[in-house]
Amino acid sequence: MPWKRSDGWWQPVIGGCGARFLAVEGEPYSVSRYATDAAAAEALIRASGAALAIAPCTHRWQRALPGVAQRVGGAIDTHAVDISPGSVRRWYYRQRIEVTLARAATPWIILREPGSGDPWQGVPAQATVERLDVTPPATRTQVEGIEAQAASQQTIRPDAALLFVAGAGWTKKQKDGAVRTSEASELILQFVNRTGASLGSSKSLVDQSGEGQAVLPFLTHLHQVGQTGSTPRHRKGLASCCHGEEPHVVGWRFVNERRAINLDPNCGWARGKADVLYVADAFEVLREAAKALGQPGAD
Ligand SMILES: Cc1cc2nc3c(=O)[nH]c(=O)nc-3n(C[C@H](O)[C@H](O)[C@H](O)COP(=O)(O)OP(=O)(O)OC[C@H]3O[C@@H](n4cnc5c(N)ncnc54)[C@H](O)[C@@H]3O)c2cc1C
Repeated sequence: MPWKRSDGWWQPVIGGCGARFLAVEGEPYSVSRYATDAAAAEALIRASGAALAIAPCTHRWQRALPGVAQRVGGAIDTHAVDISPGSVRRWYYRQRIEVTLARAATPWIILREPGSGDPWQGVPAQATVERLDVTPPATRTQVEGIEAQAASQQTIRPDAALLFVAGAGWTKKQKDGAVRTSEASELILQFVNRTGASLGSSKSLVDQSGEGQAVLPFLTHLHQVGQTGSTPRHRKGLASCCHGEEPHVVGWRFVNERRAINLDPNCGWARGKADVLYVADAFEVLREAAKALGQPGAD
């Protein structure tokens, strides 16, 4: 967990974990590119002599480390969600099947899903970093720059404590007979930005753009939670204007505490799928939440 210094800055406390720190530095390694990432990782694994190499299961390392496993004569497993001495738990087939497996091959490279474990706790300590001198390999790929969303526009946040899910009800005719999509957009974005929650969606809502209907502009298919979407991991989840049908709710299996807001007391959530169901108008609930959360920050 980060540690707050007296000047108000947060700093990581990994320095105190007792590990030996090795690093590869330099401009060629500053960008995500298979050839340079693999060369750096290979050098680090060889120099450390480690039998186990653990990296975050991000696109960057998913791309670079399988080739490294081949080079160092080891093995690799991706999508690990738990690591114990001698074994890992990982999922297959979009998290429908979870297995525990062990391997004899070393080095064993394990890519762990972000957000699937508790952060390291400790006090800060000075770390001595040993820099390895690695000659950059010849590359055919030149990285010219990165086009990325502003952090405040990035609404999928795997490390957030709360998953907020928007369903198709946000774009349906409301009790006053009107469709209030722009108000829905504003309320949802305000809520996720002020709480730091990760945003998810039901399939019906993200599919709407394909049917020529007004749709919430910040939602993509990457936000979809469920059988044909993602299976995120968060401590808590709050569904809004979403019916709670089985193909959607299977995506919630790793959300520990589930709540839902729905006008319909007989919705799917009421049938054992949520710990708490608020039978209420989500527009009203989010308006009240916005007042309670105070002035806008990043939104
Ligand atoms: C093979 C297969 C795979 C599928 N995979 C997925 C998947 O991965 N993910 C997924 O989401 N779905 C999936 N589905 C679709 C799923 O079965 C549902 O159709 C979908 O989840 C419904 O979306 P929804 O709940 O947002 O919309 P709806 O069913 O239209 O529900 C809208 C809800 O909003 C409520 N509501 C409306 N206005 C308000 C308001 N003001 N306040 C509070 N509540 C309000 C209504 O009461 C209603 O319950 C799959 C289906 C199949 C057949």
